[in-house]
Amino acid sequence: MTALAEILAARIAATGPMRLSDYMAECLLHPQHGYYTSRAPFGAAGDFTTAPEISQMFGELLGLCLAQYWLDLGRPAPFTLAELGPGRGTLMADLLRATRGVPGFQDAARVMLVEVSPRLRQVQRTTLGTHSVDWLDRVEDLPGQPLFLVANEFFDALPIRQFTRAGDGWSETMVGLDAGRLTLGRAPPAPLALLAHRLADTQEGDVVETCPAAAPIMAGLAARIAGHGGLALVVDYGGWRSRGDTFQALRAHAFADPLEAPGEADLTAHVDFEALALAAAPAATRYTTQGALLSALGLAARADRLAAGLDGQALTAHRAAERRLTDPEEMGELFKALAVFPPAAPPPPGFAP
Ligand code: SAH
Repeated sequence: MTALAEILAARIAATGPMRLSDYMAECLLHPQHGYYTSRAPFGAAGDFTTAPEISQMFGELLGLCLAQYWLDLGRPAPFTLAELGPGRGTLMADLLRATRGVPGFQDAARVMLVEVSPRLRQVQRTTLGTHSVDWLDRVEDLPGQPLFLVANEFFDALPIRQFTRAGDGWSETMVGLDAGRLTLGRAPPAPLALLAHRLADTQEGDVVETCPAAAPIMAGLAARIAGHGGLALVVDYGGWRSRGDTFQALRAHAFADPLEAPGEADLTAHVDFEALALAAAPAATRYTTQGALLSALGLAARADRLAAGLDGQALTAHRAAERRLTDPEEMGELFKALAVFPPAAPPPPGFAP
């Protein structure tokens, strides 16, 4: 058993089964043993690879989308240029490099990174070199000013609760103990106001997940954008409405048992973009796939330009990365993008009018 498994087993023995959301929060963010607090999860040697780690084009195109929209909104200054959960800082570094030539953009920007892991903050510091950057613990700490923001694979890391339909009630998935080992079980069914709206589109035995932290975070972003102007680009895997069990563990690039090694595997769930869009009111939203967004932002042309300077293995890897980001069989359709922008403003580049 991992050290964290022992801590959690002792707690469950003392106080009873835990919600999945509490289990996930401990596994990811426990101060000593949490996955993000104690490990460097990214890249070939880690547990998973994200879009900015696959190709510089991802951060470049999202950055140019933000900068173009900043121009379209009349160059508000000063403004916050923010990222939620920046990982190694690669996306922000690519974004800053790509937008250097946009007159006035970086002079007006105050760069803020929302990151809980002290260890990843250090990695981000190194990646971003001498760029002036502020770190924040929470989205609520973002200032009340125009906000241009990216969040890639951030919302999937927020703890979820999971429910199985039982009659007109719901039975919550809990982490309990069986002969001293962590095991998944279900609480007795109970009616749940939170899921009243899902009785119409689910049947006995269907599984639905909720992410309690997601709506308040999105509401905080949307209030700043609706009130002061700006744009948030949220990219993640998921769909338009939560259905089915999507709670998963990734370890060394393979799916693993989420209870097997708490603190040593990445735990995530698919993002419910409908819930995010609802929480974004009164800001406006548009939703599309990652593949469609990157293509509309000019990925093919950018890829050709970079390809012109490459040959051999580097060229093959570059073309494979382009496919991986956009192909429907790879990340192109599983990953979605949500834009959040001011209610009366036109949709940003890459999203249908
Ligand atoms: N965006 C990066 C990394 C994604 S991994 C990329 O695309 O490569 C998730 C990131 O979110 C990590 O940096 C992790 O430390 C951070 N994170 C997870 N939960 C968080 C929370 N509740 N608040 C702030 N950051 C969080």
